[in-house]
Amino acid sequence: RGTTPVPPDVRPRLTVLSGPSGVGKSTVVAHMRKVHPEVWLSVSATTRKPRPGERHGVQYFFVSDEEFDKLVANGELLEWAEFAGNRYGTPRRAVADRLEAGEPVLLEIDLQGARLVRESMPEAQLVFLAPPSWDELVRRLTGRGTEAPDVIERRLEAAKIELAAEAEFDTTLVNTSVEDVARELLALMEVA
Ligand code: 5GP
Repeated sequence: RGTTPVPPDVRPRLTVLSGPSGVGKSTVVAHMRKVHPEVWLSVSATTRKPRPGERHGVQYFFVSDEEFDKLVANGELLEWAEFAGNRYGTPRRAVADRLEAGEPVLLEIDLQGARLVRESMPEAQLVFLAPPSWDELVRRLTGRGTEAPDVIERRLEAAKIELAAEAEFDTTLVNTSVEDVARELLALMEVA
């Protein structure tokens, strides 16, 4: 008797990528999708205002506070969290549809959201994206130039707490090179 092969349907199909704000999660995800456009990424709803170049339905569904309240009340979010003064949530239906079809699903969400997913879907694999160093994280958050100083301050405060959560994750990827991390993430998702 050899080892029993793992049936395809119990492989982790839901992957959660999390990590401190500014660590480069969205850059990694954008690169990954350029190389593998077939990888489906959940588009979150948020009450944050769009940054220049961001489009409704692409980076996020940009919604009002009232609309977000409704999504929560109707149970339409798989998880949601408040982050640096705005709310963000993962639409439940789209994720469920992809998982039912046996397709890999990637969520790029904050730490609180990652914890909620772990509770409701213990089979999800949680991947932590870590900065090469604290100084590098500060440099990236400050250098982005899209946020006001008080917003950067709030995000750095959040990052301090988030860095300590690494131990709760299944895997850590250190963001030294976007290409390398994207490749490693694809391998974890068993896409490439
Ligand atoms: P940003 O405003 O920089 O786009 O995102 C701020 C933070 O919110 C990031 O850490 C991002 O991963 C997280 N985020 C984005 N969408 C969601 C979501 O649907 N749920 C949760 N919990 N966090 C999210």
